[in-house]
Amino acid sequence: MTESGMLLGHLQARLPVILDDLRVLVEQESPSLDKRAVDRLAEYLGNRMSDLGARVELVPSRHYGNHLRARWGPSGPGQGLLLCHTDTVWPVGEVRRRSFRVSDGWAWGPGTHDMKGGIAQLLAALGVMRELAIDPALPLVAIFNSEEEVGSPESRELIEEEGRRSRFCLVLEPPTGEGNLKTFRKGVGGFRLRVTGRPAHAGADHAQGLSAIQELAHQVLRLHALTDYAAGVTVNVGVVRGGSRSNVVAEVAEADVDFRVPSLALADAVLGQMKTLGPITPGVQVSLEGGLNRPPMERTPAIVALYERAAVLAAEMGFAVGEGGTGGASDGNFVAALGTPVLDGLGAMGHGGHALDERVLVEQLPWRSALLVRIMQTFS
Ligand SMILES: [Zn+2]
Repeated sequence: MTESGMLLGHLQARLPVILDDLRVLVEQESPSLDKRAVDRLAEYLGNRMSDLGARVELVPSRHYGNHLRARWGPSGPGQGLLLCHTDTVWPVGEVRRRSFRVSDGWAWGPGTHDMKGGIAQLLAALGVMRELAIDPALPLVAIFNSEEEVGSPESRELIEEEGRRSRFCLVLEPPTGEGNLKTFRKGVGGFRLRVTGRPAHAGADHAQGLSAIQELAHQVLRLHALTDYAAGVTVNVGVVRGGSRSNVVAEVAEADVDFRVPSLALADAVLGQMKTLGPITPGVQVSLEGGLNRPPMERTPAIVALYERAAVLAAEMGFAVGEGGTGGASDGNFVAALGTPVLDGLGAMGHGGHALDERVLVEQLPWRSALLVRIMQTFS
Protein backbone atom coordinates (compact mmCIF):
# COMPACT_ATOMS: atom_id res chain seq x y z
CA MET A 1 0.00 0.00 0.00
CA THR A 2 1.27 3.50 -0.77
CA GLU A 3 2.14 5.88 2.03
CA SER A 4 -0.89 8.03 1.14
CA GLY A 5 -3.17 5.00 1.10
CA MET A 6 -1.96 3.91 4.52
CA LEU A 7 -2.46 7.40 5.92
CA LEU A 8 -5.99 7.53 4.53
CA GLY A 9 -6.75 4.13 6.05
CA HIS A 10 -5.61 5.36 9.46
CA LEU A 11 -7.80 8.42 9.28
CA GLN A 12 -10.81 6.46 8.04
CA ALA A 13 -10.40 4.13 11.01
CA ARG A 14 -10.38 7.21 13.27
CA LEU A 15 -13.68 8.55 11.96
CA PRO A 16 -15.56 7.81 15.22
CA VAL A 17 -12.89 9.82 17.09
CA ILE A 18 -13.18 12.71 14.61
CA LEU A 19 -16.96 12.76 15.08
CA ASP A 20 -16.62 12.62 18.83
CA ASP A 21 -14.18 15.55 18.73
CA LEU A 22 -16.60 17.47 16.56
CA ARG A 23 -19.44 16.77 18.99
CA VAL A 24 -17.37 18.04 21.94
CA LEU A 25 -16.40 21.20 20.00
CA VAL A 26 -20.02 21.89 18.99
CA GLU A 27 -21.32 21.31 22.51
CA GLN A 28 -18.85 23.88 23.86
CA GLU A 29 -20.75 26.77 22.37
CA SER A 30 -18.70 29.85 21.55
CA PRO A 31 -20.52 32.95 20.28
CA SER A 32 -18.07 35.72 19.32
CA LEU A 33 -19.33 38.16 21.94
CA ASP A 34 -19.54 35.78 24.90
CA LYS A 35 -16.04 36.00 26.36
CA ARG A 36 -16.52 33.38 29.08
CA ALA A 37 -17.87 30.80 26.65
CA VAL A 38 -15.10 31.37 24.06
CA ASP A 39 -12.44 31.40 26.80
CA ARG A 40 -13.57 27.94 27.92
CA LEU A 41 -13.26 26.57 24.39
CA ALA A 42 -9.81 28.18 23.96
CA GLU A 43 -8.66 26.54 27.18
CA TYR A 44 -9.99 23.16 26.08
CA LEU A 45 -8.37 23.45 22.66
CA GLY A 46 -5.10 24.64 24.18
CA ASN A 47 -5.00 21.47 26.30
CA ARG A 48 -5.82 19.30 23.30
CA MET A 49 -3.13 20.90 21.15
CA SER A 50 -0.64 20.61 23.96
CA ASP A 51 -1.46 16.89 24.39
CA LEU A 52 -0.77 16.54 20.66
CA GLY A 53 2.72 17.92 21.16
CA ALA A 54 2.22 21.59 20.31
CA ARG A 55 3.70 24.43 22.35
CA VAL A 56 0.63 26.47 23.21
CA GLU A 57 0.35 30.07 24.24
CA LEU A 58 -2.88 31.73 25.32
CA VAL A 59 -3.07 35.28 23.95
CA PRO A 60 -5.32 37.10 26.42
CA SER A 61 -8.03 39.42 25.21
CA ARG A 62 -9.94 41.94 27.29
CA HIS A 63 -13.01 42.38 25.13
CA TYR A 64 -13.24 39.10 23.27
CA GLY A 65 -12.42 35.49 24.05
CA ASN A 66 -8.74 34.64 24.48
CA HIS A 67 -6.87 33.69 21.33
CA LEU A 68 -4.58 30.71 21.06
CA ARG A 69 -1.24 30.33 19.31
CA ALA A 70 0.21 26.84 18.91
CA ARG A 71 3.59 25.87 17.45
CA TRP A 72 4.86 22.46 16.45
CA GLY A 73 7.15 20.73 14.00
CA PRO A 74 10.89 21.01 13.47
CA SER A 75 12.93 24.02 14.48
CA GLY A 76 14.66 25.96 11.76
CA PRO A 77 14.13 28.93 9.50
CA GLY A 78 10.80 29.73 7.90
CA GLN A 79 7.35 28.64 8.98
CA GLY A 80 3.88 27.79 7.71
CA LEU A 81 0.75 29.34 9.21
CA LEU A 82 -2.64 27.72 9.85
CA LEU A 83 -5.73 29.80 10.60
CA CYS A 84 -8.75 28.61 12.59
CA HIS A 85 -11.34 30.52 14.58
CA THR A 86 -13.03 29.29 17.73
CA ASP A 87 -16.09 31.55 17.60
CA THR A 88 -19.42 30.91 15.91
CA VAL A 89 -22.42 33.06 15.08
CA TRP A 90 -24.67 31.01 17.40
CA PRO A 91 -25.77 32.04 20.89
CA VAL A 92 -25.30 29.78 23.90
CA GLY A 93 -28.33 27.49 24.08
CA GLU A 94 -28.58 26.92 20.33
CA VAL A 95 -27.18 23.41 20.75
CA ARG A 96 -30.11 22.53 23.04
CA ARG A 97 -32.44 23.51 20.23
CA ARG A 98 -30.44 21.72 17.52
CA SER A 99 -28.29 19.15 19.24
CA PHE A 100 -25.28 17.61 17.53
CA ARG A 101 -26.33 14.50 15.65
CA VAL A 102 -25.11 12.24 12.89
CA SER A 103 -27.75 11.09 10.43
CA ASP A 104 -28.03 10.33 6.70
CA GLY A 105 -24.28 10.75 6.25
CA TRP A 106 -24.21 14.25 7.71
CA ALA A 107 -23.05 15.62 11.06
CA TRP A 108 -25.49 18.37 12.06
CA GLY A 109 -25.24 21.14 14.61
CA PRO A 110 -24.38 24.81 15.18
CA GLY A 111 -20.79 25.54 14.15
CA THR A 112 -20.15 22.17 12.47
CA HIS A 113 -19.47 23.75 9.08
CA ASP A 114 -18.13 27.14 10.18
CA MET A 115 -15.67 25.97 11.37
CA LYS A 116 -15.51 23.37 14.08
CA GLY A 117 -15.41 20.61 11.43
CA GLY A 118 -12.13 22.10 10.21
CA ILE A 119 -10.74 22.13 13.75
CA ALA A 120 -11.77 18.47 14.23
CA GLN A 121 -9.93 17.62 10.96
CA LEU A 122 -6.82 19.39 12.24
CA LEU A 123 -6.89 17.55 15.59
CA ALA A 124 -7.20 14.24 13.73
CA ALA A 125 -4.34 15.20 11.40
CA LEU A 126 -2.04 16.01 14.31
CA GLY A 127 -3.07 12.81 16.11
CA VAL A 128 -2.19 10.63 13.17
CA MET A 129 1.08 12.47 12.53
CA ARG A 130 2.09 11.73 16.09
CA GLU A 131 1.02 8.10 15.81
CA LEU A 132 2.85 7.50 12.51
CA ALA A 133 5.82 9.76 13.38
CA ILE A 134 5.20 12.02 10.38
CA ASP A 135 6.99 15.35 10.75
CA PRO A 136 5.97 18.59 9.09
CA ALA A 137 8.46 19.91 6.55
CA LEU A 138 8.56 23.33 8.23
CA PRO A 139 7.91 24.73 11.70
CA LEU A 140 4.16 25.35 11.87
CA VAL A 141 2.13 27.85 13.82
CA ALA A 142 -1.64 27.83 14.19
CA ILE A 143 -3.75 30.74 15.37
CA PHE A 144 -7.19 30.08 16.81
CA ASN A 145 -8.71 33.54 17.09
CA SER A 146 -11.92 34.24 18.96
CA GLU A 147 -13.65 37.03 17.00
CA GLU A 148 -13.45 36.13 13.30
CA GLU A 149 -17.20 36.34 12.87
CA VAL A 150 -17.13 40.00 13.92
CA GLY A 151 -14.25 40.93 11.58
CA SER A 152 -11.19 39.98 13.72
CA PRO A 153 -10.75 43.55 14.99
CA GLU A 154 -8.28 42.48 17.64
CA SER A 155 -6.54 39.38 16.27
CA ARG A 156 -5.80 40.94 12.90
CA GLU A 157 -2.48 42.22 14.21
CA LEU A 158 -1.52 38.79 15.55
CA ILE A 159 -2.50 37.14 12.26
CA GLU A 160 -0.53 39.66 10.21
CA GLU A 161 2.52 39.33 12.47
CA GLU A 162 2.65 35.55 11.90
CA GLY A 163 1.55 35.93 8.26
CA ARG A 164 4.54 38.14 7.48
CA ARG A 165 6.92 35.47 8.77
CA SER A 166 5.24 32.61 6.93
CA ARG A 167 5.99 31.01 3.56
CA PHE A 168 2.38 29.91 3.15
CA CYS A 169 -0.91 30.09 4.97
CA LEU A 170 -3.56 27.36 5.23
CA VAL A 171 -7.09 28.40 6.19
CA LEU A 172 -9.38 25.79 7.74
CA GLU A 173 -12.59 27.51 6.72
CA PRO A 174 -14.96 25.27 4.73
CA PRO A 175 -14.42 24.61 1.02
CA THR A 176 -17.05 25.77 -1.51
CA GLY A 177 -20.40 23.96 -1.60
CA GLU A 178 -18.93 21.65 -4.27
CA GLY A 179 -15.95 20.89 -2.02
CA ASN A 180 -13.45 23.03 -3.92
CA LEU A 181 -10.48 24.68 -2.25
CA LYS A 182 -10.57 28.47 -2.30
CA THR A 183 -7.97 30.42 -4.22
CA PHE A 184 -9.71 33.78 -4.16
CA ARG A 185 -12.05 35.73 -1.94
CA LYS A 186 -13.55 39.13 -2.40
CA GLY A 187 -12.53 41.99 -0.17
CA VAL A 188 -15.18 43.35 2.18
CA GLY A 189 -15.75 46.89 3.32
CA GLY A 190 -18.33 48.70 5.37
CA PHE A 191 -19.58 52.24 5.67
CA ARG A 192 -21.99 54.21 7.77
CA LEU A 193 -23.71 56.93 5.79
CA ARG A 194 -24.98 59.83 7.92
CA VAL A 195 -27.34 62.48 6.62
CA THR A 196 -28.22 65.61 8.55
CA GLY A 197 -31.04 67.81 7.31
CA ARG A 198 -33.16 70.46 9.00
CA PRO A 199 -36.15 69.51 11.16
CA ALA A 200 -39.46 71.30 10.77
CA HIS A 201 -43.13 70.85 11.66
CA ALA A 202 -44.58 68.67 8.91
CA GLY A 203 -47.80 70.70 8.90
CA ALA A 204 -46.98 74.27 9.91
CA ASP A 205 -43.48 74.69 8.42
CA HIS A 206 -43.02 71.89 5.89
CA ALA A 207 -41.22 74.15 3.39
CA GLN A 208 -38.65 75.13 6.03
CA GLY A 209 -37.53 71.56 6.52
CA LEU A 210 -34.77 69.65 4.73
CA SER A 211 -35.61 65.98 4.93
CA ALA A 212 -32.68 63.72 5.79
CA ILE A 213 -34.80 60.73 4.78
CA GLN A 214 -35.41 62.07 1.29
CA GLU A 215 -31.69 62.69 0.88
CA LEU A 216 -30.87 59.23 2.19
CA ALA A 217 -33.24 57.71 -0.37
CA HIS A 218 -31.31 59.47 -3.17
CA GLN A 219 -27.99 58.30 -1.73
CA VAL A 220 -29.14 54.68 -1.43
CA LEU A 221 -29.99 54.61 -5.14
CA ARG A 222 -26.61 56.12 -6.03
CA LEU A 223 -24.77 53.61 -3.85
CA HIS A 224 -26.68 50.66 -5.29
CA ALA A 225 -25.88 51.89 -8.79
CA LEU A 226 -22.19 51.17 -8.03
CA THR A 227 -22.96 47.43 -8.10
CA ASP A 228 -21.39 45.84 -11.18
CA TYR A 229 -21.97 42.08 -11.32
CA ALA A 230 -19.76 41.64 -14.39
CA ALA A 231 -16.82 43.18 -12.51
CA GLY A 232 -17.68 41.31 -9.30
CA VAL A 233 -18.48 44.50 -7.38
CA THR A 234 -21.52 44.64 -5.09
CA VAL A 235 -22.78 47.43 -2.86
CA ASN A 236 -25.56 46.69 -0.40
CA VAL A 237 -27.33 49.11 1.91
CA GLY A 238 -28.38 46.57 4.50
CA VAL A 239 -29.76 48.79 7.27
CA VAL A 240 -31.50 52.18 7.22
CA ARG A 241 -32.88 54.25 10.05
CA GLY A 242 -33.92 57.85 10.51
CA GLY A 243 -36.47 60.39 11.51
CA SER A 244 -38.24 60.84 14.83
CA ARG A 245 -42.00 61.13 14.22
CA SER A 246 -44.23 61.15 11.18
CA ASN A 247 -45.19 64.80 11.80
CA VAL A 248 -41.58 66.03 11.80
CA VAL A 249 -39.44 66.55 8.71
CA ALA A 250 -36.57 64.19 9.47
CA GLU A 251 -33.41 65.77 10.78
CA VAL A 252 -31.17 62.70 10.68
CA ALA A 253 -31.00 59.45 8.76
CA GLU A 254 -28.35 56.76 8.57
CA ALA A 255 -27.55 53.71 6.52
CA ASP A 256 -25.12 50.80 6.99
CA VAL A 257 -23.46 49.80 3.75
CA ASP A 258 -21.54 46.63 2.81
CA PHE A 259 -19.40 46.41 -0.32
CA ARG A 260 -17.43 43.57 -1.93
CA VAL A 261 -14.63 43.82 -4.47
CA PRO A 262 -12.48 41.17 -6.18
CA SER A 263 -9.27 43.26 -6.42
CA LEU A 264 -7.49 46.14 -4.73
CA ALA A 265 -7.69 48.14 -7.97
CA LEU A 266 -11.49 47.85 -7.95
CA ALA A 267 -11.55 48.62 -4.21
CA ASP A 268 -9.76 51.90 -4.93
CA ALA A 269 -12.10 52.66 -7.80
CA VAL A 270 -15.26 52.03 -5.75
CA LEU A 271 -13.93 53.90 -2.72
CA GLY A 272 -13.04 56.82 -4.98
CA GLN A 273 -16.56 56.91 -6.40
CA MET A 274 -18.12 56.71 -2.96
CA LYS A 275 -16.06 59.62 -1.67
CA THR A 276 -17.37 61.89 -4.44
CA LEU A 277 -21.02 61.28 -3.50
CA GLY A 278 -21.91 64.72 -2.17
CA PRO A 279 -25.38 65.84 -1.09
CA ILE A 280 -28.09 66.16 -3.74
CA THR A 281 -30.23 68.52 -1.65
CA PRO A 282 -28.53 71.90 -1.06
CA GLY A 283 -28.05 72.58 2.66
CA VAL A 284 -28.05 68.92 3.71
CA GLN A 285 -24.89 67.33 5.12
CA VAL A 286 -23.78 63.90 4.07
CA SER A 287 -20.87 61.97 5.57
CA LEU A 288 -19.52 58.53 4.85
CA GLU A 289 -17.36 56.78 7.45
CA GLY A 290 -15.61 53.47 7.02
CA GLY A 291 -13.56 51.68 4.41
CA LEU A 292 -12.15 48.35 3.38
CA ASN A 293 -12.15 45.90 6.31
CA ARG A 294 -10.73 42.73 4.76
CA PRO A 295 -8.72 43.34 1.59
CA PRO A 296 -9.42 41.04 -1.37
CA MET A 297 -7.55 37.75 -1.62
CA GLU A 298 -6.60 37.86 -5.28
CA ARG A 299 -5.93 34.68 -7.26
CA THR A 300 -2.17 35.12 -7.68
CA PRO A 301 0.14 32.61 -9.42
CA ALA A 302 1.66 31.74 -6.00
CA ILE A 303 -1.80 30.90 -4.62
CA VAL A 304 -2.67 28.81 -7.68
CA ALA A 305 0.65 26.96 -7.23
CA LEU A 306 -0.34 26.02 -3.65
CA TYR A 307 -3.69 24.77 -4.90
CA GLU A 308 -2.06 22.71 -7.65
CA ARG A 309 0.30 21.04 -5.20
CA ALA A 310 -2.62 20.21 -2.89
CA ALA A 311 -4.60 18.80 -5.84
CA VAL A 312 -1.71 16.44 -6.66
CA LEU A 313 -1.61 15.25 -3.02
CA ALA A 314 -5.40 14.67 -3.09
CA ALA A 315 -5.10 12.74 -6.38
CA GLU A 316 -2.47 10.47 -4.81
CA MET A 317 -5.18 9.44 -2.34
CA GLY A 318 -7.72 9.00 -5.12
CA PHE A 319 -9.63 12.26 -4.71
CA ALA A 320 -10.15 15.06 -7.21
CA VAL A 321 -10.31 18.46 -5.55
CA GLY A 322 -11.30 21.50 -7.57
CA GLU A 323 -10.57 25.18 -7.19
CA GLY A 324 -13.03 27.97 -6.43
CA GLY A 325 -13.69 31.15 -4.52
CA THR A 326 -16.35 33.20 -2.82
CA GLY A 327 -17.71 36.67 -2.15
CA GLY A 328 -17.21 36.16 1.58
CA ALA A 329 -13.91 37.06 3.23
CA SER A 330 -11.86 35.14 5.80
CA ASP A 331 -8.78 35.96 7.84
CA GLY A 332 -6.83 34.56 4.88
CA ASN A 333 -7.58 37.87 3.17
CA PHE A 334 -5.35 39.71 5.68
CA VAL A 335 -2.46 37.33 5.04
CA ALA A 336 -2.84 37.33 1.24
CA ALA A 337 -2.67 41.13 1.26
CA LEU A 338 0.84 40.86 2.77
CA GLY A 339 1.98 38.85 -0.27
CA THR A 340 2.06 35.49 1.55
CA PRO A 341 0.28 32.85 -0.55
CA VAL A 342 -2.90 31.47 1.04
CA LEU A 343 -4.78 28.25 0.42
CA ASP A 344 -8.27 28.48 1.87
CA GLY A 345 -11.17 26.06 2.17
CA LEU A 346 -9.18 23.26 3.81
CA GLY A 347 -11.90 22.74 6.43
CA ALA A 348 -14.90 20.46 6.40
CA MET A 349 -17.16 20.11 3.36
CA GLY A 350 -20.79 20.79 4.11
CA HIS A 351 -23.65 23.23 3.83
CA GLY A 352 -25.55 25.86 5.77
CA GLY A 353 -22.84 27.87 7.50
CA HIS A 354 -24.65 30.56 9.56
CA ALA A 355 -27.94 28.78 8.78
CA LEU A 356 -30.28 26.44 10.65
CA ASP A 357 -29.47 23.44 8.43
CA GLU A 358 -25.71 23.68 9.11
CA ARG A 359 -23.99 20.33 8.56
CA VAL A 360 -20.85 18.59 7.30
CA LEU A 361 -20.47 15.52 5.11
CA VAL A 362 -19.18 12.71 7.32
CA GLU A 363 -17.43 10.62 4.64
CA GLN A 364 -15.33 13.63 3.61
CA LEU A 365 -13.81 14.25 7.04
CA PRO A 366 -11.06 11.57 6.96
CA TRP A 367 -9.63 12.27 3.53
CA ARG A 368 -9.64 16.04 4.03
CA SER A 369 -7.81 15.44 7.28
CA ALA A 370 -5.35 13.19 5.42
CA LEU A 371 -4.87 15.93 2.84
CA LEU A 372 -3.95 18.29 5.63
CA VAL A 373 -1.34 15.80 6.87
CA ARG A 374 0.19 15.48 3.39
CA ILE A 375 0.24 19.28 2.98
CA MET A 376 1.96 19.77 6.34
CA GLN A 377 4.38 16.98 5.49
CA THR A 378 5.39 18.35 2.08
CA PHE A 379 4.80 22.13 1.85
CA SER A 380 8.09 23.88 2.54
ZN1 LIG B 1 -15.59 30.83 9.49
